Amino acid sequence: MKYIDPHIHMVSRTTDDYERMALAGCAAITEPAFWAGFDRSSPQGFHDYYRQLTETEPARAAQYGIQHHCWLCVNPKEAEDAGFAREVMSLIPEFMDRPNVLGIGEIGLNKNSRNELVILEEHLALAKQLDQLVLVHTPHLEDKLKGTRLIMDAVDNAGLVPDRVLIDHVEEHTVSAVLDRGFWAGMTLYPETKCTPQRAVDILEAYGTERLWMNSAGDWGPSDPLAVPKARVEMRRRGHDDDMIRTVTWDNPMTFLSRSPRFRVTDA
Ligand SMILES: [Zn+2]
Repeated sequence: MKYIDPHIHMVSRTTDDYERMALAGCAAITEPAFWAGFDRSSPQGFHDYYRQLTETEPARAAQYGIQHHCWLCVNPKEAEDAGFAREVMSLIPEFMDRPNVLGIGEIGLNKNSRNELVILEEHLALAKQLDQLVLVHTPHLEDKLKGTRLIMDAVDNAGLVPDRVLIDHVEEHTVSAVLDRGFWAGMTLYPETKCTPQRAVDILEAYGTERLWMNSAGDWGPSDPLAVPKARVEMRRRGHDDDMIRTVTWDNPMTFLSRSPRFRVTDA
């Protein structure tokens, strides 16, 4: 049974990771634009990054039969300088028509600061203007619930439809708020901290599978590009059937991502 990992930062991963993911059944991935572990010193640095996301990574993934897609934005961690962020955002439209670009993401909040919120609102306006799907990063730890609410309000104020927005990194205390307002929700699996595969399966057992997906968010920090197949093993170990596993790791990402005409994947 194949799977989709809808949030993974392959620019930080080795080609061996692509091979291991393909062996584990990965058919497609989507890669949101994010913080690279260091602040880029110029808008040109983002221009190069967008080329990497739209040219280099699709070619690398294709060697292993994996369809690569991406999302473009200035991540909230580098959005504190609004002038800089706006210069970077002005580059986005030129990349929006590339064949693997699905929408705007991962936008959101990191420290819930005023400037982050302003740039978030401008990204949402851009998504509305270009009629794009949106993938949202929510802050970690104690700021998560407050940040998630601020983000959902901003999406509503921008006039975007919640059904075309995925709120990522939900946890036990935010998942119902997100689903109740009609958004899609992503659970990000981390090896030990935050949401482990075990906790993600607990959440599925408590809240059901509608509009929920899971991803590895593999990046340059401690993370596991095989987190999704490992969570499938955990579901199976607990006695969940193939239908449920397929719903969360294939059908749901397929349904949401297919709202972009650029999402392509061969069948499971
Ligand atoms: Zn991410």
